[in-house]
Amino acid sequence: MRKGAARAPVGLPVVRIARYTTGDEPAYGVVGGTDGDEIIATMVGDPLYVGVELTGEQVGLADARLLAPVIPRSKVVCIGRNYAAHVEELGHDVPEEPLVFLKPNTSVVGPHDPIVYPRQSSNVHFEGELAVVIGRICRDVPVERWKDVVFGYTVANDVTARDLQEKDAQWARAKGFDSFCPLGPWIETELDPADLTVTTELNGDVKQLGQTSLMLYDIPTVIAYITSFMTLLPGDVILTGTPAGVGPMQPGDDVSVTIQGIGTLTNKVVSRD
Ligand code: ZN
Repeated sequence: MRKGAARAPVGLPVVRIARYTTGDEPAYGVVGGTDGDEIIATMVGDPLYVGVELTGEQVGLADARLLAPVIPRSKVVCIGRNYAAHVEELGHDVPEEPLVFLKPNTSVVGPHDPIVYPRQSSNVHFEGELAVVIGRICRDVPVERWKDVVFGYTVANDVTARDLQEKDAQWARAKGFDSFCPLGPWIETELDPADLTVTTELNGDVKQLGQTSLMLYDIPTVIAYITSFMTLLPGDVILTGTPAGVGPMQPGDDVSVTIQGIGTLTNKVVSRD
């Protein structure tokens, strides 16, 4: 990524980068306009590689289908047990270092894509989380340089088969099913992530209500920690942990995660058969 490439076009206070389709190939665009009447200004290519360059074409947001705003180039890196109240509700101890696990990039789906309830589980939970999209290849990032490697932020649902998580020593299965990592609706590039409200609703009822300021390990610390042992690539995504209030979903449920300053990610749970 060219540093500083993502800049708001004149008149747009923020840069919201969406990936979308109108029936043809997926494209990227900048979402602008007024609430309820948004337009997408089409980009020339993937902004992670070519920066924000517009083609001059526009489509109405209502006429487009949003896709996952990023397909992680290699991995989704997740932080577990990163909010004290969530650690307590599951009866665990606060980790002495950030607890890191991976979700495969094949678990990623977009807004309004179905979350498929697996046959192997009978206790599938939502976990609303702030997601960080990495903008450049990086290793050994010093805490004070964390902003240099961040492209932007989006909303994630770290869907988890809680029964399999308890049963398996590793979480690859519990966290890694296809469709277990909804991302979207877009990437917000101009945002201070330090104190944002994270809300998860199930069928309209608020289940999780947290503040990112309550993370045990904040984003600069998490980026420095992960890159102390692992290279991150442009388009890799970090899920920063979930606040308290996790709970089960059933086929037919609608689950929405909203993060202040970004937007709402909604998915429906469907049965496998
Ligand atoms: Zn999580």
